Amino acid sequence: MTGRPDGWSLLLPPVCCFCQRVCRPVAGYPGICRSCLARLPLRFGAQRQLAGLAEGFSVYAAAYYQSPLRDLLLRLKFSNAPQLSVALTSLLTDLVRQQVPDAAAVLAVPLHRRRLLERGYNQSGLLAKQLAAALSLPDLSAGLVRCRETCRQSETTSRAERLANLDQAFGIDRNLWQAWLSACPAGGRARLVLVDDVLTTGATLAAAARPLRQAGLAVTGVVVASNAS
Ligand SMILES: [Zn+2]
Repeated sequence: MTGRPDGWSLLLPPVCCFCQRVCRPVAGYPGICRSCLARLPLRFGAQRQLAGLAEGFSVYAAAYYQSPLRDLLLRLKFSNAPQLSVALTSLLTDLVRQQVPDAAAVLAVPLHRRRLLERGYNQSGLLAKQLAAALSLPDLSAGLVRCRETCRQSETTSRAERLANLDQAFGIDRNLWQAWLSACPAGGRARLVLVDDVLTTGATLAAAARPLRQAGLAVTGVVVASNAS
């Protein structure tokens, strides 16, 4: 991997990452042509809030997990194509500007170190980094760690098994959060935006948010795509 993630949008030729045609990208949506943007399964208005999740914290999705967005998210995750995160970040930027106007910092749902070594990058980490840059907010992803390796969610069967698998999988860097809160003008009301690429059941996002919320931090989850309601 070469280059910095936030420099890719400048280095890439103006090719649409969905249709692969050379195009003039739509303002605010690098890497997406006008006709592909119009065809994306975006969520609007009240569709963006995922109301069915437990745990009592708000989660928003920019789009439904359907083609052609689904294919792009799979390429980002499994095809060593970190540059695709630029186009996907633009969907999150729009979502956070509208749904989380009090956002004070951004952080990603972390991967375990071993998974990170296998893949070479955390796709949610790239999204969080570029989202933070676009919104001129700090990226505090270093404050949330994956303490123990969990099975891939797709390899577990029941909901109970998934939840047990995630129990205490995440931990926080208390020193980092205390230092940030004491310097933050909004103090204890400062809201964190927790970023993931895809939400299926919401169990992973909820588990990642739990230690932050237990430490008294306000958290709102955002994902690029989900079919949850
Ligand atoms: Zn296109």
